[in-house]
Formats: sequence, C-alpha cells, structure tokens
Amino acid sequence: MIYASGKHSLYDPVCAYQATTFVRLSLINQLKKYSMAFTLPQLPYAPEALEPHIDAQTMQIHHGKHHQAYVDNLNKAIAGTEHENKTLEELVKQAGSISPAVRNNGGGHWNHSFFWEILGPAGKSQPSGALADAINSTFGSLDGLKEKMNAAGVGRFGSGWAWLIKKDGKLEITSTPNQDNPLMEIAEVKGTPILGIDVWEHAYYLNYQNRRPEYLTNIWNVINWNKVAEHFSK
Ligand code: MN
Repeated sequence: MIYASGKHSLYDPVCAYQATTFVRLSLINQLKKYSMAFTLPQLPYAPEALEPHIDAQTMQIHHGKHHQAYVDNLNKAIAGTEHENKTLEELVKQAGSISPAVRNNGGGHWNHSFFWEILGPAGKSQPSGALADAINSTFGSLDGLKEKMNAAGVGRFGSGWAWLIKKDGKLEITSTPNQDNPLMEIAEVKGTPILGIDVWEHAYYLNYQNRRPEYLTNIWNVINWNKVAEHFSK
C-alpha cells in the first residue's frame, strides 16, 4: 500500500509477501549454488587405518589439504561458466579442451576420490574370481601385476599416477602425468581405471622421503581388492 506521502507501510501485506518471496528466492539460489558445488568425500576409514604402510599424518594432509584444494579450485574454475552443471565424469573426460585448471583440479578430485576407495586396512582382501583370472592370464600372477605396475610408477618422471585399466574387456597398465587419468580424451592410453596409485611425493614423502619404490612395494598391503573387483565387473 502506498500512501499519499509515497512511503510504504511496513505492515503492507503485499510488500510483506514480496519481501518474503525475495528472501525465499535468494535462499533457493544459494541452495542451488551450494548443491552444485563439488565437496570433499569423507575417507572411508580412519586416517591411521593404513599404518604402518601409509601413516596417519600423510593421510590427513593428503586428504584434508591436497584433495580439499583440488575440490575448491575445481569449484572456482567452473563457477559461473557453461561447465558448472556438468558431472565430474563429464568434466574429466573433456578436461583437455576446457582449461588447465579443470584438467588439474577436476583430475585431482576424481583421482583422489577413486584412490581412497581402493585403499583399505591391510590383510582384508585378495583378488578372487574373474578378477584373479584376468590378472593371472594377463600378468602371469599377482606378483607379475605388482612388478609391472611398480615399474610404471617408478618410471613416471615427476608427479603422476600408475593405473591398472580395463580396455576392450582386457587389463592393461599405464601411467599419466600430474592429475591426468585414462578417462580423459587427451590421455595417451584410454580405458576404465580399475586401480590407481598416486606417485606424487605428497603421497609418501613424510614416511618414505625419496624412496618411491619402497612406498610402491608397501602400498600393495593396503589395497581393497573388493573395490578393485567391483570396478572390474562394471
Ligand atoms: Mn595425491
């Protein structure tokens, strides 16, 4: 209601309704923005669960600081762009043609989310069934797989990842630089990751310093083979 003086009544029901609607719409927009942003997944076990092979402090910093930074920087890189409604998988696949920030941080977010899941407390699982058969027929034995995978990890100069992938129904080992992965269209060797090992120094330096081969030898103690089998069966 507008009075002759031109002032709005504070109690005008129309104004009150408009104000409420405005507040509601702002809230909806904020919630929408919030729900579309990527968030850091929780570790599926306690940070100390992988000791002594991977120490708790490394896990806390790796997950809480490094992975969090990839999530935050990915959100910043896509906010307000045509890419902000894409899934992580879409972003990662197209990363090479979007931007270096999406490639590094989208890859970083995908790779680490995947990595936490394929690790777990020591001695809980072994490859079995179809996965064990595929490992034996491709690499001769589980040791054969470990040897080739470790060679890929040691041979990756600087920072990157060693991968066991499924390609045309078969197992294959590859490695990628930085936060690239085999899902990216720009990857040299493309395929579906079954298992991935982070060989960035931040993944092992506190405990192993420069001894990447020792980290790679020990990480096999904390592989969650049930998760690897789940990826293989897809
Ligand atoms: Mn990492």
